[in-house]
Amino acid sequence: MENCIFCKIASGEIKGDIVFQNESVVAFRDLSPQAPVHILVIPRKHIATLNELAPADDNLVSKMVRTATELADKEGLAEKGYRLVLNCNEQGGQSVFHIHLHLLGGRHMGWPPG
Ligand code: AMP
Repeated sequence: MENCIFCKIASGEIKGDIVFQNESVVAFRDLSPQAPVHILVIPRKHIATLNELAPADDNLVSKMVRTATELADKEGLAEKGYRLVLNCNEQGGQSVFHIHLHLLGGRHMGWPPG
């Protein structure tokens, strides 16, 4: 997608603090971290919101979650715990319209979320 900032990070057109990438997904540190560890995992494929996910994307979503859990382990979060978040559209708090999985950890998370 032409004007998608996350597509540009995935392609290297815009610099991101990338911590992992492969042919399917890219993971980079959030510009405005909400926890000591805050990493976003995105698919290379442009999908605007969770509402556009198709059955053909099931494997991709699984790869996003697997990448996040492996990064949680690498960042030393696995034992104490962490949170994975997917926001959808306005009331869900989505501000970038290319799906992304937030990996948050390194502090206690409140519930319910704000
Ligand atoms: P959401 O509100 O769920 O759409 O999350 C979007 C996230 O993207 C926010 O946490 C932003 O801080 C983060 N973000 C926006 N632009 C960038 C960027 N260029 N590099 C890294 N993170 C970004």
